[in-house]
Amino acid sequence: MADVEVKKEEYLVIGKTDAVEISVDTFLCKGCGICLELCPRTVFEWSQELSEKGVHYPVAVKADKCVKCKLCELLCPDFAIAVKW
Ligand code: SF4
Ligand code: SF4
Repeated sequence: MADVEVKKEEYLVIGKTDAVEISVDTFLCKGCGICLELCPRTVFEWSQELSEKGVHYPVAVKADKCVKCKLCELLCPDFAIAVKW
């Protein structure tokens, strides 16, 4: 399995491998948990820290499990997730 790199760049928290990059905009995310519930590969875990909005946000800590279905990106009501490869 590919190594996962997790980093924060200003308001984006990014989980990436050589194959895929999953970013969450912590400024847009309201912490509803839809992405954690619906990702078929349980790629996300809640952050330890709080965002600018005062909520926990998802972190793609298991980006190596991602199958690039884009469900998270499509179903996030706040357009906070981007999946790129
Ligand atoms: S679905 Fe969107 S708003 Fe809800 S927790 Fe995930 S990233 Fe945040
Ligand atoms: S693209 Fe699919 S598998 Fe990858 S993190 Fe989003 S919901 Fe999960």
